[in-house]
Amino acid sequence: MFPFAPHLAFWQTYYSCKEAGVFSISTGDGKVMGTDGNIRLMDRVKPTGIIGIPTFLYHILNQAVQEGKRFETLQSLVLGGEKVPAGMRRKLTYLAQQLGSTDVSVVATYGFTESKMAWGECPHPLESESGGYHLYPDLGLFEVIDPDSGEVQLDGQPGELVFTPLNARGTTVRYRTGDIIDGGLVYDVCPYCKRRMPRLMGNISRRSDIKEMRLGKIKGTLVDFNELEKALDDVDHIGAWQIEWRKINDDPMKLDEIILHIEPLGTENEEQLLHIVTERFKALTELKPNRVCFHTSAEMREMHGVGTELKEKRLMDHRP
Ligand SMILES: [Zn+2]
Repeated sequence: MFPFAPHLAFWQTYYSCKEAGVFSISTGDGKVMGTDGNIRLMDRVKPTGIIGIPTFLYHILNQAVQEGKRFETLQSLVLGGEKVPAGMRRKLTYLAQQLGSTDVSVVATYGFTESKMAWGECPHPLESESGGYHLYPDLGLFEVIDPDSGEVQLDGQPGELVFTPLNARGTTVRYRTGDIIDGGLVYDVCPYCKRRMPRLMGNISRRSDIKEMRLGKIKGTLVDFNELEKALDDVDHIGAWQIEWRKINDDPMKLDEIILHIEPLGTENEEQLLHIVTERFKALTELKPNRVCFHTSAEMREMHGVGTELKEKRLMDHRP
């Protein structure tokens, strides 16, 4: 379910399935077939795995649940193109369970354009720690370095990822990714599949992200949007969400106001959800949203531009 575009996620998926002899269909996310088309296709082929961008996958599975569909064959949901907060894993697992797939693994991938390949996590139970990204040492060499001194770190130490392709035509360089991994590189046996491939452990964040931190000002207060997105994704009873900021009465001379749009998921208690989400928001930004609006999932799909936008619109700045 990746968009039809010349990017790594799409082509990695296409060629992997082709080489492995796996029957696969590319739907090109919502733009070509719409969310309805994606669901109809799932109905026909009964897939064992889906690969796509987390937010889009979330919308598809959620709509399927609401339409009362049964997809009992799902074994894995493979995610690419966006970071995967723990809350998103829980929500996707929960939706798959509601569709009748009780034993589904949510698998994150790591990749970057310059590597011309991506690496997947070992499937693992939701409640256990990830076994890390499994590497292919015959195709490329990973090192973890101290980003300041450039020294190679010991096994399991955090640092910046450096990648050297061993078998890529036209690109033989030792490439500094700018990505920081907090659990480093390990060589012991994977606790899940028992393979002895090297593994990248922990969370990966862009070094440039850390520098830029995607800071923005709301009501004059500096807000780190990465942290805010993660915090909202982690609230169990919020499905999709959107932060909107605008000027009061759309008057450029007036103050900023911030509106949080959320879709309640698996709860009727809007009062409690309102409290939780306001507190989370306040803890991270020292601000309270002016308003919190509840929406149905169909409304949230519309607001995210599912099927019309390249990326779901989670932050909307309507200030003049
Ligand atoms: Zn493994």
